[in-house]
Amino acid sequence: MAIIRISGPIACDVAESIAGNIPSHRIAALRTFRNSSGEAIDTGLVIPFLQPNSYTGEDVVELQCHGGPAVVTALFSEVCSAGARPAERGEFTERAFLNGQLDLSQAEAIAALIDAESQAARKAALRSLDGSYGNLIRDIADRILELRSRIEATLDFPDEEDITDFNKPYLINELCEINSEINGLLQRAENGLKLRSGYQISLVGRPNVGKSKLMNVLVGRESSIVTDTEGTTRDLIRERFECNTQTVDLVDTAGIRFSESINSIELEGIRRAQQQIEESDIALLVIELHKGLGEDDIEVLRLIPEGKSLIVACNKADLCDDRASDLAYIADNAGIDEARVIPVSAISGTGLHTLREIIADVVADSDHGDVYASEQRHVDSFSSCKSHLEAAVNAYEREYDIAIVAEHLRNAQNSLSEITGHVTPEHVLDSIFSKFCIGK
Ligand code: GDP
Ligand code: ZN
Repeated sequence: MAIIRISGPIACDVAESIAGNIPSHRIAALRTFRNSSGEAIDTGLVIPFLQPNSYTGEDVVELQCHGGPAVVTALFSEVCSAGARPAERGEFTERAFLNGQLDLSQAEAIAALIDAESQAARKAALRSLDGSYGNLIRDIADRILELRSRIEATLDFPDEEDITDFNKPYLINELCEINSEINGLLQRAENGLKLRSGYQISLVGRPNVGKSKLMNVLVGRESSIVTDTEGTTRDLIRERFECNTQTVDLVDTAGIRFSESINSIELEGIRRAQQQIEESDIALLVIELHKGLGEDDIEVLRLIPEGKSLIVACNKADLCDDRASDLAYIADNAGIDEARVIPVSAISGTGLHTLREIIADVVADSDHGDVYASEQRHVDSFSSCKSHLEAAVNAYEREYDIAIVAEHLRNAQNSLSEITGHVTPEHVLDSIFSKFCIGK
């Protein structure tokens, strides 16, 4: 089936000209759809949603027809000649926003829901869609407004004792409290972004240890080039897979080789690998079990910054038996728990299940529970709100002009309102809705 949705003041007229009389609000009726000369195009369902109880808040009529391209084309052109026009990307949601059916963070949550590639991302989007995210933000904006009005009152009525004499420690305290709540939201927004882009795991190790082979078996398709020639993987190869409800990006780096005769291409590879490790959430070091942890492996370990989550896969386990003492030695050198040193074989499949479980555990460890779907612009707005609040506290403590304090608070409040769309510049709106698909 296909659904053609018509929204706007003449939606019912357009639908009536094609389907004859239409049923009442939210009732589905079977009708024959006809063109202007009365010729039948298809039969299907008509369902009106009258304003304000529709997605856009306007009159909306759905025509449900058979999904074949010829039917849809004919019906669509009939709808257009009866006075409608094709929607822009995201225009339905944009109208919903403009008609107050959704705030901006909810509108974005719809796009996030459509784009969600993992169950965790889907849940975060739903959490934002129910409006609780927007409500939290509005509550804080209201608290700032409250302080602002009290401060501004002292400007307007400088001689009224009971207005000017409000408690300074109370105000500072309230500002700091608000700031720490913003901090919490900022962190949740950053986690929400992470969830959306996926956790990044970089595969690192010297050449020929089996990084590419391991990547291929983990993601279940051939994407990395596996060869017997050392140093074949020059460019970064990235594959996305779902690991225990989380989206995980696995990035295969160039093999890292340390030698006197290192050439410039290899140097570039090392530089990129190092940058990739920096950017990723988890480093997956691959070594060879039968060779143990060698000098070169230790050099690679040194590229991994302290504090980065690390897993060591001891590959080619099919070539020898693993000895517990070796694993303990490796764990010790890598500075990680022995449970994170896993003998695997990309060829026989040994240990892969455990490796996936450990990856999922580490990802879950870095997950912070109730995340909201968020956008970079939310993170930016929270950060700017924070710095305005801090500036307000600073100005107040140093007894600057109270008008300056009020101005900082106004900016802090505006930063928050940009997220929910209460003060949002037009170009920001355009760019948000242009990310939607047509028909949503
Ligand atoms: P990379 O340079 O680290 O990406 O290594 P590759 O994935 O290209 O693999 C290098 C060589 O090791 C290839 O010949 C692979 O077939 C081989 N290899 C990879 N994994 C295993 C394994 O688990 N066992 C054995 N015996 N050989 C492997
Ligand atoms: Zn490779």
